[in-house]
Amino acid sequence: MSEILVLVEQVEGEVKKVTLELLTLARTLGTPAAVWAGPGFTPEAKARLAEYGAEKIYVAASSDIVDYVVAPKAELLAQLATSADAVLVAATAEGKEIAGRLAIKTDSGVITDAVGLSEGFVADQSIFGGGINVHAKVRKGTPVIAVRPNSTAPVASAGAGAEEEVSVTLSDAAKATRVVERVKQEKGARPELTEAAIVVSGGRGVGSAENFSVIEGLADALGAAVGASRAATDAGWYPHQFQVGQTGKTVSPQLYIAAGISGAIQHRAGMQTAKTIVAINKDPEAPIFELADYGVVGDLHQVVPQLTEEVQKRK
Ligand code: FAD
Repeated sequence: MSEILVLVEQVEGEVKKVTLELLTLARTLGTPAAVWAGPGFTPEAKARLAEYGAEKIYVAASSDIVDYVVAPKAELLAQLATSADAVLVAATAEGKEIAGRLAIKTDSGVITDAVGLSEGFVADQSIFGGGINVHAKVRKGTPVIAVRPNSTAPVASAGAGAEEEVSVTLSDAAKATRVVERVKQEKGARPELTEAAIVVSGGRGVGSAENFSVIEGLADALGAAVGASRAATDAGWYPHQFQVGQTGKTVSPQLYIAAGISGAIQHRAGMQTAKTIVAINKDPEAPIFELADYGVVGDLHQVVPQLTEEVQKRK
């Protein structure tokens, strides 16, 4: 079977869920080989990657790889991609930048924001702000495919997890931008927005920063992440890092609840690949209802607390 490289996303040695999803996807198409970029590889990480099917784990432990911004990871993958059939990365901001750089280096093509992948590396992709769904295929070189988190449910199936050390010699160009400081973000109790299986988002209809507690209440009852429309973040009601959409984060959860959000194309661009969409809006003509699987026409200040109460009762 052919080898499919999966770039590992990790935080302080803990393998992120999206990597397990990519390994699961890779297993359906060939032999998954995980690529660990940077120091901090642990026996726990090795066990986790093997548990989800990594037959091989390439470990490039040089701190150079994480001391410079993005380019070293693309150079590492370019070195390994010569013998691979495809490269999968997470469609995060960094993953997509790596994918683009890698495709240039390997004279190949790149597909970003894939939400599915089938035989022959045909990717399901959502384009033009989510207006059109296409099947896309790279026709030249080793396909580089950035897959959205939550597109596939991770399923464990043991692989050999054979470790292989890799040394990489970085070009001067890859060392152009050095990381000078890393500031640790406070890790809240809620799941990370782009990785969450459930997202509850609020828009201008929420009405104020204080009212966002209604959105947070439902999110906490469901174990969900909180998102916001740009109208809400621009108004200063919720921090910008939680903005969903074209100029915010792209999410692809199992369930997306949009409360007081009209459904502008720029918002849809960041959430329309969610498996199930629920919209709560007092305007029956709001465009979000065209996209929603379930819609509630009503005042979110009445509907959301009732929903929260109902969820809590059923726990
Ligand atoms: P509105 O469009 O004002 O909608 C508010 C909705 O709330 C209405 O449908 C209303 O009926 C409903 N409502 C009001 N009160 C209640 C209530 N009590 N109960 C229930 N419903 C209620 N937007 C993003 O979200 N993300 C982006 O990344 C993004 N990027 C952009 C990039 C560019 C280049 C541009 C030009 C725009 C971008 N926008 C983005 C902005 C986007 O066009 C919309 O303006 C924005 O999404 C609107 O946010 P909203 O739906 O919260 O507000």
